[in-house]
Formats: sequence, structure tokens, C-alpha cells
Amino acid sequence: MTDIINTLDLNYEEWVKLCTDQWELPRYRADQICQWIYQKKVFNIPDMTNLSKELRNDMALEMFILPPSLMKEEVSSIDRTTKYLWSLLDGETIESVVIFHGNHTTACISSQVGCPLGCGFCATGQSGFVRNLSVAEIVGQFLAMEKRVGKDINNIVYMGMGEPLLNLDNVLKSIKILNHPKQRKLGIRNISISTSGIIPGINAIAEFDLPVRLSISLHAPTDRIRSRLMPVNNKYSLNPLIESLKNYQEKTGERITIEYIMIDGVNDSKDMAYELISLLSGLDVFINLIPCNPVNDKYRRSPQETIKAFSQILKKLEIEVEIRKEKGTDINAACGQLRKTLR
Ligand code: SAH
Ligand code: SF4
Repeated sequence: MTDIINTLDLNYEEWVKLCTDQWELPRYRADQICQWIYQKKVFNIPDMTNLSKELRNDMALEMFILPPSLMKEEVSSIDRTTKYLWSLLDGETIESVVIFHGNHTTACISSQVGCPLGCGFCATGQSGFVRNLSVAEIVGQFLAMEKRVGKDINNIVYMGMGEPLLNLDNVLKSIKILNHPKQRKLGIRNISISTSGIIPGINAIAEFDLPVRLSISLHAPTDRIRSRLMPVNNKYSLNPLIESLKNYQEKTGERITIEYIMIDGVNDSKDMAYELISLLSGLDVFINLIPCNPVNDKYRRSPQETIKAFSQILKKLEIEVEIRKEKGTDINAACGQLRKTLR
């Protein structure tokens, strides 16, 4: 069993190596196989009809192409947002979501089973942590969703369960595979990573040669409030975090999205809007205000007027800001509502 490859782990260069070195075939065979998997979403090796029978037999002996298997699919009656529950080979489960905006679709995918960071407002954080996802599980989740949806999904956000920058190697390799012109060919500008502020990971992305979009879950303008909401702030506090964002921006020239959950009476006062502006001064940012989604009784959503007033203060100082429209709350598919299924 140990030598059988889950092919969804392989990047293009590894496919070429396998074809040319191991099977002594021309390089274009790798292109053909990748087309079957990433473009046509055919995961059954015997169905890859332009490959010789011999090659299909060899492949079937040495590898499997196995995306996570679908256990449950729920569709929002409000906006068609669809949540999928997947089962992994070891029986663990993860959730991911497809969001429809007109003709465009976005896949929100998971990077870990649960999350070790325990943010108080987040269902994933409250459900504990089991393990990182493999490359094949990250890529397979996306391909399986695309196959279910029946057409290409345009964007990917690493905003499902888990902290992507704590599973950096697998996340970066999955991005390379999904972006590669011979594999899924998804534009790098259509891929976003969201992080709670893992500084070494942000620094690594600044060095990485694929300009993915970066979002930071900031949620508070002071260490006192942020540490209360997000224990990760005790390790990576605001000053060094902002420094790492400045360094990222110097290296990449990329604008950064700041995510800010609006929680009633916690982080939503006018004073905090001004503190946020001063904290972010010198950075080129886009601010996404996210009305807090219901997860527990402790954190309630700010009233609509409070969110508007907060946003007006930012706008007056010419900071670009948008209030995120909620999607899929009726099926618990909105931000922060994905959780590890209890077994
Ligand atoms: N761990 C990463 C990636 C997960 S993204 C991160 O935290 O950035 C999930 C996004 O949903 C994050 O911005 C997170 O802060 C936000 N979120 C979590 N709980 C939420 C809630 N109850 N309401 C609204 N957004 C929430
Ligand atoms: Fe983890 Fe992000 Fe949820 Fe915090 S918000 S617990 S970092 S998934």
C-alpha cells in the first residue's frame, strides 16, 4: 500500500518525471493525463481513452486518483450557496463551500481538519484540531466540487476550515498545481489565502514567486481586544504583524485585504475605526467588514447602523471598504460556520 501514489499529490514536473523516467514515455503523455484529471475531471483510469491500454494498466497498478468522497450536500434556499461535507481516507471529515455571484463561482476550501487556533467567534476553532490536509486532499476537494457543480469554478479562497499558513508546504504546492498551465490553469490572481496572521507564513509568501492574493483576519485594532478574540495574537501580536505586512507589500507591491468581523460592543465603536486607520497607515489595504455570523451566544453581530457608521469613517479617510454580503447562513456555510463533524 505504501508505494501506491495518490496522484492528486503530484505537480506537473512530477508527472513528467513519472512518464519519462519510470514508464519511458514521451513527455506529452504527462500532458494528456493531466488533461484528463484537471480539465475533464475523469478520475477513473480505464476511461482515459487516448492512453494505451498498457499505460492504463500500469497506472492502475501503481496509483489511484482519489478525491475526497462526498457525504452530504446542502444548498441554501436563499442564494444557492452549496456546502459539501467530504470524507477523507482515514475517516476524518471536512467541509467546503461553493458561492455563486452571477456567472462567477468561488470555492471556499479547507486546509486543515479543524483548526488549532481556537478563535472564540469561529465554529471551526471551537471544534478542535486533528491534522493538516495533504496536497491531494486540498486539490481533490476543489476538483470534486467542480465536478459536482458541472462547470469551471472561477476563484478559490483558502478560507474554509483551518489556518492555511500552518500547513504552508501543502497549501503552496496545491496552489502550484491548481495554477499550472498543464494542470488546472486557474489564474493566480483568482486565488486568495486568508490567514489569522502567522508571521513566518506571511514572510514565506512574500518570497514565493506566485502572487496569490493575501487576506488578513485582523478583527481588532488593539492587542488587548485582539488577544481576547484570537489567542494567536499572544504569539504574533499587532506590531510585528503590521511590520511583516509592510515587508510583504514592499516585496510584492500587492494590496492586502483586511478582514474585520463586526461584533456587537466588542470591536465596533467609532474610536476603534480611528484606531484601525492609524494601525494600518502606510499600508495599501482594502477592508472587508464582515457582519459576525451566529456561532454561539457570546458574540453577537453589530447592528446594521453601527456597521454603516464604522464603514463611513473609513470611507471618509479614503480607505476602500466593503461590507461583506452574507451567503449561505441558512445552511451554516458562511464565514466561520464550518466545523469538524463530531464522530
Ligand atoms: N484561519 C484563516 C482562514 C479561515 S478564513 C483565517 O482565520 O483567516 C475564515 C474567515 O472567516 C476568517 O476571516 C475568519 O476570521 C472569519 N470568521 C470566523 N468566524 C466568523 C464568524 N463567526 N463570523 C464572520 N466571520 C468569521
Ligand atoms: Fe482558525 Fe481562522 Fe477559525 Fe481562527 S478564524 S479558529 S484561525 S479558522
